[in-house]
Parts: sequence; structure tokens; C-alpha cells
Amino acid sequence: STQDKWALVTGGNRGIGFAIAQGLLVKGYSIIITSRSLDNAKLAAQKLQPKVIPLELDVTDDRSINEAVKTLHQKIDRLDVLINNAGVYPDKDVNILTIDRELLDSTMNANTFGAIRMVQAFLPLLEKSPDARVINVSSGYGALGGLSYDVPSYCLSKLALNGATIMLAQALQSLGIVVNSICPGWVKTDMGGSSAPREPEQGADTAIWLATDAPRNINGKFLRDRKVISF
Ligand code: NDP
Repeated sequence: STQDKWALVTGGNRGIGFAIAQGLLVKGYSIIITSRSLDNAKLAAQKLQPKVIPLELDVTDDRSINEAVKTLHQKIDRLDVLINNAGVYPDKDVNILTIDRELLDSTMNANTFGAIRMVQAFLPLLEKSPDARVINVSSGYGALGGLSYDVPSYCLSKLALNGATIMLAQALQSLGIVVNSICPGWVKTDMGGSSAPREPEQGADTAIWLATDAPRNINGKFLRDRKVISF
């Protein structure tokens, strides 16, 4: 039953991540909401009680990830769903010709390497689930046809995140762990801004579906609105 199924959402304190946590809770999952700030994780958890554990986790910091794994090991014995939702969109007044190494570095670190490190660190818990699923929240900006030279670090990081999805799906296939990327569409959040046409609930829908009801033969794919799209 989903009664004792656990899902962890990075950046679950606001925006699309919060909507994903909310949706999974409605479906009966117990949730771990992680945020860089424990206070923000706690505030988000309070809004969603009862079965929510707030946890501090910075996906760019291996010490923070390892600490979170250790804390969680004391509370749960398996993880069924990992949603790599945390992300940054810092490109401002830069393009592929002017961006410096530091910005390239920090964006890749958060959006791409963070997701890879999360899978590595939580693999022992994911392996204990009979039906583990990993969802990487990517973007149409990371599709080969969606790359834009004036969103350089963001596009590259999501393109590489999609690459990581393919490689992780291959690597985890023998363990029965399914890995997919999603594009939430343009969503009204701190990142997406107020002009975005979609509400967070709509942006969260495909991730929730992949985490719960989607056929497990959808693996290593990129989806928007519950449909496979081109990488
Ligand atoms: P928000 O800016 O509203 O939320 C981003 C979340 O990521 C926050 O919870 C933030 O935590 C967290 N985060 C950022 N950096 C880190 C880090 N180093 N470690 C842990 N958590 C971190 O954005 P959205 O909800 O809009 O975005 C969620 C995902 O959806 C992102 O991956 C984004 O790229 C993707 N996306 C969004 C679109 C949109 O239109 N909004 C379109 C396409 C994709 P904190 O509160 O600590 O800052």
C-alpha cells in the first residue's frame, strides 16, 4: 500500500516542489521535504501535516547530503520516490560568449551534479523499495531544440541533467529503479515569475504521475504533460 511509501522532494519548501509534495501526500505517500533552510522545510511541513518530515539539505554540498542520509536512516528504512526538483536559474545579462566559469560551475553544480549525487547517496534506501522511482525536474530549455544562448548555464545544466537521466536509467535498470526527466512547463513560482501561465499544481502533475501511477516501462525518458517528448 502507499500507506508506508516514502517520497523525498528536494527544494520542496516552495514552488513546484511544494506542489509535488502536496500531490504525493494526497495520494497517501509520506513525504520528506528538504530545503537549504531547516526553518523553511519545517514551515512547509507544518502546512502539510501529518506525515511530513522536514530536513535540511543543500544539494551542492556533499556533507549536507550525507548528513541528511544519516538522519533519514534513523527514521525510515526505505525510500520509494526521489524527486530531484531543486534548481537555480541565475543567468542574468549573460550569454554563452560572456558567461564566466563561476556561474557555469555553480549552476551545473546545483542543477546537474546535485541530482547525480542525490541518487548516489540515497541509493541504499532506494534499493530497499520494490518499486523505486527517480524523477529529475528538468526543463524544455534543456531540450536540444530548446537551447538558448542567452540562458547559457541553465540550458547546459538541464541538457546535462537529461543526459544524467539516460545514464542513471541504464545504470539502475538491473536494480529495477526507474529514472525519468520532466519539463513542468512555464510555471508561476519565484523562478517562473507571475506572468507564467501554469499554476504549480499543473507543473507538478507529470512528476506526481511518474512517481506513482505511470507504467514502469517509461524509463530513461523526457516527459511533459504525461507524454514522452524529444530530448
Ligand atoms: P523556485 O525558485 O520557486 O524553487 C526552487 C527550489 O529549489 C527552492 O525550494 C530552493 O530552495 C531549491 N534550491 C535551490 N538551490 C538549492 C540547493 N543548492 N540545494 C537545495 N535546494 C535548492 O523554482 P520552481 O519551483 O519554479 O522550480 C523547481 C524546478 O522546476 C527547478 O529545477 C526548475 O529549474 C524547474 N523548472 C521550473 C520552471 C518554471 O517555469 N518555474 C520551468 C521549467 C523547469 P531555497 O528555498 O533554499 O532557495
